[in-house]
Amino acid sequence: MKCVSAKMVQRKNAIYLEKYCTIHGSQTELLEEDADYFIKRRGFDKPGTDCRRQTKTKKGCPFDCGLCPQHAQHTCIGLIEVTNTCDLRCPMCYAASGVGEFLSLEVIERMMNVYIDSEFEPPEILQISGGEPTLHPNILEIIDLGRKKGFKYVMLNTNGLRLAKDEEFVRKLAAFDRGFEVYLQFDGLNPKALRRLRGKDVGAEKKRAIERLTHHRIPTTLVATIAHGVNDGDIGAIVKLGLDIPGIRGVNFQPMAFFGRMPDKVSTQERITLTGIIQRIEEQTEGLLQKSDFVPLPCDVDRVALTYLRKEKMGKWIPLPREIDLRQFVPAIKNTFAFALDDAIDIKAARGCDCFKGPLRLMNLLADTALLRTLQQRAKYLNENLFRISITSFLDAYNFDLKAMQKECVHVITPDGRKIPFSAYNMIHRKAV
Ligand code: SF4
Ligand code: SF4
Repeated sequence: MKCVSAKMVQRKNAIYLEKYCTIHGSQTELLEEDADYFIKRRGFDKPGTDCRRQTKTKKGCPFDCGLCPQHAQHTCIGLIEVTNTCDLRCPMCYAASGVGEFLSLEVIERMMNVYIDSEFEPPEILQISGGEPTLHPNILEIIDLGRKKGFKYVMLNTNGLRLAKDEEFVRKLAAFDRGFEVYLQFDGLNPKALRRLRGKDVGAEKKRAIERLTHHRIPTTLVATIAHGVNDGDIGAIVKLGLDIPGIRGVNFQPMAFFGRMPDKVSTQERITLTGIIQRIEEQTEGLLQKSDFVPLPCDVDRVALTYLRKEKMGKWIPLPREIDLRQFVPAIKNTFAFALDDAIDIKAARGCDCFKGPLRLMNLLADTALLRTLQQRAKYLNENLFRISITSFLDAYNFDLKAMQKECVHVITPDGRKIPFSAYNMIHRKAV
């Protein structure tokens, strides 16, 4: 695999990458479906946060992962794949998971230490992933270890099948309480789409997993992989379902990338982009959300967009950017992929902003939560009254953009002690690739 230079061109309101390779010839790739957002997002860009590096610059990006000295962002989410065993065989699986091995607790602890040692401040989010991590015989000990190591959040990235059938396991997860969250794979409930993405209709299992998680009050984010022409018509329904279920803290949409078990992409029409998902959210939520409600995450403007909604007393949801101009907060928004609003905003820095009107309104909003006495009351308030919608896009061999890659903040921790940006890992560094 080689990098080729490319230029970005705008046609109508979309942005394309145009490139030429001496072996494969000319290629045009859809980069974003909304040029206005693409252009405006630069206004949110912030320099990255430094961290310790594990490799040296030798062959150049993206072959030196990592992190190498060229990388421009610390780790917002450190991901440990504890197994490549899985009880599904999703046709779109990035990891091409199936029958595999389980990492030992000793190796997993070493990987957690790599993450901790590389950050100059306490690390934020540890994501336990796979394969299907709930199949690991020591999964509860792994989560417990992550919490004891002091990660602010430990997330379990699961397809939910074990949660659907093993209530005792869910009860044990609930005991982890604050700082533990489930990232539940949920691509909607359309049987045809589920068969295409997951190999079978797993809708009933997903519903049961959600019932169990909410019954045991485990904070949960629904994670939807969106494929063009498969489930991009279900985006609005997924948002509404999340908003209607107390205990669901948010939805994360991921435009499908072309690596792993996915066959080679044949046409640019098959791609859906970050801005394409925002457009469909506007089209499919009947005025509840608009494109202008979404802002780029300053630590990674190319790949992450998000919004928060606040629940009013009558149960109506209001997107926060309609009440507060979040651009005023760019200096105060931390380089983090935090879950709660008060994690994401540095309150002291927000107070120092030139324009007081917006920050004061934000402070008033957060003061509601600060007045609640116990951590449990505060967590409950945030769970029930804030909802986050985020979109995270990945880079594959077709839409590869070196500058965006170097800002990527979701890093896979490898057993040999490296941290590799998620897209680079799936594109070239994963063993099976
Ligand atoms: S993606 Fe980041 S870590 Fe990997 S080679 Fe490029 S700059 Fe280095
Ligand atoms: S995408 Fe997830 S659930 Fe599906 S096969 Fe891969 S690891 Fe398993």
